[in-house]
Amino acid sequence: MSDLILKNIGCLYGILDSSTLLLKGEDMNTVNSISNAWIVIKNGTIEDFGPMDTFDDRNYSKTVDMQGKVVFPGLIDSHTHLVFPKTREEEFAMKIKGATYAEIAAAGGGILNSAKSLKEITENDLLEASQKRLHKLIPFGSVGIEIKSGYGLDFEGEIKQLRTIQSLKKISPIPIRSTLLAAHALPTEFKNKREEYLNYILEKLIPYAYQENLADYVDVFCEENFFTTVETERIMLKAKEFGIKSKIHANQLANSGGVQIACKHQAISVDHLENIGIEEIEVLKKSNTLPVALPGCSYYLNMQYTPARQIIDHGLPLVIASDFNPGSAPSGNLLFSWSLACTKMKLSPQEAFNALTINAAAALEWENILGSITKGKIASLMVFEANISLEHIPYHFAMLNPCQMIINGKFYPY
Ligand SMILES: [Zn+2]
Repeated sequence: MSDLILKNIGCLYGILDSSTLLLKGEDMNTVNSISNAWIVIKNGTIEDFGPMDTFDDRNYSKTVDMQGKVVFPGLIDSHTHLVFPKTREEEFAMKIKGATYAEIAAAGGGILNSAKSLKEITENDLLEASQKRLHKLIPFGSVGIEIKSGYGLDFEGEIKQLRTIQSLKKISPIPIRSTLLAAHALPTEFKNKREEYLNYILEKLIPYAYQENLADYVDVFCEENFFTTVETERIMLKAKEFGIKSKIHANQLANSGGVQIACKHQAISVDHLENIGIEEIEVLKKSNTLPVALPGCSYYLNMQYTPARQIIDHGLPLVIASDFNPGSAPSGNLLFSWSLACTKMKLSPQEAFNALTINAAAALEWENILGSITKGKIASLMVFEANISLEHIPYHFAMLNPCQMIINGKFYPY
């Protein structure tokens, strides 16, 4: 692989030393940068960087003059449902007319709607649609993502989704983590047979996903009218038997008790958290489970936002992700999430940036390979026009995209 040497970078943002793997509380407000910088990328990884007065052109046969363009580490999306069969714009119209999330579900919409279409789509078509979607995310700055199952809701469907994620991993230019979310909703055919469906997950799906190496994590929609804390606990413990860690959906629709269960069993992260109070914050403080906010979902559903300001003010780390899915967040644009984090959750541009980079990398156990400008990390970077500062990006909401992306040390598209 050829080298890439960038010089005259207007500003190189997001520099961390290799021992900083997570930022908490006040530390989230700092983003280190070098003005007028250079960076040397070898074999797809960051070899070295520094200010231009330490750069010697004679050491390199070929350099790229960035003419003041600014460079950031790429963003990480630690929570998506990107592998879905089709979009659900008909529910959008219902929503505009005032139907609630629960009413849409009752009318055959929601997760069960996607489950129905998943049965009808071939694995090839699912892969093709998902690959197109994945490639659309990269120009918005995403350089690593997580994808969940949860629209299969039976053995065949869940495995179809997980296999599609596995195929995507092989062809994707950016790394992917896969999560088994069979406990997303109770499928129609198990309407009066909860225990049977749960056993299905515990005795069939988790062991099979483990055996075929299909799931990096397991997830549960721990919410009122979906899955209880006791059921969540059973799924987490079964996954643990196979050495699979969990990421849990909790406290979106109500205070479900999900935070307590997620922390008790050392989930990597607990996601949503729109309905948490001081009690949950105290529980999070005593654990290593990362709180994840999904502001795009609150925006789209016109529901309350996660109390992210309070979370950070209590000294906790915070992660931001898109929740990209066809029902409650049909956009995987993390730059918009960045802006929402500032305007709606009152984070500083720097706090939101750290929540989308190093902390988001930690939520997928990638903190040693992604999430900052650090020697040895993967060189997947966002390039913006000259004179764009970090604050400019969330300020110009839905307007500023990177002018170039660098993925694995090469300008993208390759
Ligand atoms: Zn989700």
